[in-house]
Amino acid sequence: MKFVDEATIDVAAGHGGAGCVSFRREKFIPFGGPNGGDGGRGGSVWAVADRNLNTLIDFRYARRHEARNGEPGRGSDQFGAAGDDVVLRMPVGTIVTDLDSGELIAELLVPGEKVLLAKGGDGGFGNLHFKSSTNRAPRQKTPGWPGETRRLRLELRVLADVGLLGMPNAGKSTLIAAISNARPRIADYPFTTLHPNLGVVRVGPERSFVVADIPGLIEGASEGAGLGHQFLRHLQRTRLLLHLVDIAPFDPGVDPVAQARAIVAELKKYDKALAAKPRWIVLTKLDMVPEDEREQRVKDFKRRLRWKGPLFAISALARDGLEPLVHAVYDHVAAQRSHDTEQRDPRFDAPPAEARDG
Ligand code: GDP
Ligand code: MG
Repeated sequence: MKFVDEATIDVAAGHGGAGCVSFRREKFIPFGGPNGGDGGRGGSVWAVADRNLNTLIDFRYARRHEARNGEPGRGSDQFGAAGDDVVLRMPVGTIVTDLDSGELIAELLVPGEKVLLAKGGDGGFGNLHFKSSTNRAPRQKTPGWPGETRRLRLELRVLADVGLLGMPNAGKSTLIAAISNARPRIADYPFTTLHPNLGVVRVGPERSFVVADIPGLIEGASEGAGLGHQFLRHLQRTRLLLHLVDIAPFDPGVDPVAQARAIVAELKKYDKALAAKPRWIVLTKLDMVPEDEREQRVKDFKRRLRWKGPLFAISALARDGLEPLVHAVYDHVAAQRSHDTEQRDPRFDAPPAEARDG
């Protein structure tokens, strides 16, 4: 199953600066030659693959990226300054296509790889450029060339960083809706009835993670009944499970502690590896508990479950407690990510003792 994050952006390179017509005007030199400089090149727009990014969410916030124009040439042989380039950092794996032509522009596979998206226009020629033995006082100049503009489609295959577990109605979908800023598309999902619920959570610029809920975990997934399996397989790469428990079940006969245990049992039955992942408890629907009873209710839950790990209490509807949760999750995910990077990348390995000493 493929989850695809996407964004559409406009990029515009800078125009080249115009050339200049100018002549030397100096005392005692009656016929000064041409000295108009060329215009500067316009800035280009580049993409560079950055392994620290993992979604395209920032490109939904900043859709237009322009490089500066080159400056016009001036007299006294001065060339115009070039416009600065703009470099857009994109996650490794981003595929860039031209939206109008459908042309594949880039597939950023290697960290640090840099690809030109829109080329800056060349500067025009100043009259200095047109000087020749037959034309010693040229009045020609050329304007700068326009910079390229393009509408681009960005696509990135994403994996869930965080999986949500919980009974039906625990509040998984509501939480995703409350914290996420975008929904990745499901590329090749054959089923129509149950959809994994995915969201990109943007904590700040260049700080985001992907969260997915797993419908059908409890509904027979471990027996292989249908799609639970597919979803669970997708969660193998997650770095954290959030286990949602309704703290205020509508039916007074339902015990949140028993509900929490049932999920853990199911998880162990299905997949030991998944069960061994870091798992945090998130008590949901806190708004349904009278304010003066909340602390005690949370305490009792912890004690009865004998829970020593991280625990959050939230109300997705009242948007209560979401900020601390989202920040803690991001910090965890980011720490895991850099840990994985160090594991993978030999450049991070300590050099052998001989190499260090000699
Ligand atoms: P899911 O099955 O785990 O995805 O649960 P949903 O997100 O669909 O929520 C189930 C029901 O609980 C819905 O009627 C939600 O409106 C309600 N719900 C979810 N979060 C909250 C909350 O924070 N407060 C209250 N009062 N209701 C909630
Ligand atoms: Mg749901």
